[in-house]
Amino acid sequence: MALTSTAHHIIAAHFGPRLKNDTELTAIDATCGNGNDTLFLLQLGMAQVFAFDVQDNAIRETSKLCAAYSPPRLMMVAKSHTEVSKVVPQKIDCAMFNLGYLPGADRSITTQEASSVSAIEQVIDQLTIGGIMSVICYPGHPNGFAETAAVATALQTQGSNASFTLTRYDSQRPTSTTPVLFILAKH
Ligand code: SAM
Repeated sequence: MALTSTAHHIIAAHFGPRLKNDTELTAIDATCGNGNDTLFLLQLGMAQVFAFDVQDNAIRETSKLCAAYSPPRLMMVAKSHTEVSKVVPQKIDCAMFNLGYLPGADRSITTQEASSVSAIEQVIDQLTIGGIMSVICYPGHPNGFAETAAVATALQTQGSNASFTLTRYDSQRPTSTTPVLFILAKH
């Protein structure tokens, strides 16, 4: 199973029973790209989804894929995810980061180590008890190796705190360059 599908399964299972009763959940898609994760979060039943991306074509594609949804349920944010704490005033129940570049687009526009770590740390500060975050890293592309190491260190620092559980998922035949999924849950 692709790690994106694994992330969807874990998040759906995490919120499954709660989504029937809790109608106020806030989610972030920190890298909306083609909009697959944003659509997943909306279809799951999140009350409000903020979708960030720095590329206009990503904002366009996500808006198109999620055309059935509009503000305030879907908030498109054409800004870096480093703005998350300024843009999202409330606590965050669920956040998804799918790092790297937009498939089929300019590969030089990719997430960067320092901004990814900054955004992840901001989200961790705003995560509710019972909240969850997924981060998919791609160590096999330029920048991606150092970014994966920095993100892993930032997450492990939190994961060693008793309020969090950090789980790592690798591809079926893991090497030093295959993608990695981290799930951080707050309890
Ligand atoms: N989640 C997407 C989907 O379901 O189609 C795929 C995301 S793609 C792997 C990574 C995305 O991160 C690209 O669209 C890229 O433009 C975006 N990105 C790069 N730097 C960013 C930043 N600082 N803030 C927000 N998005 C960024």
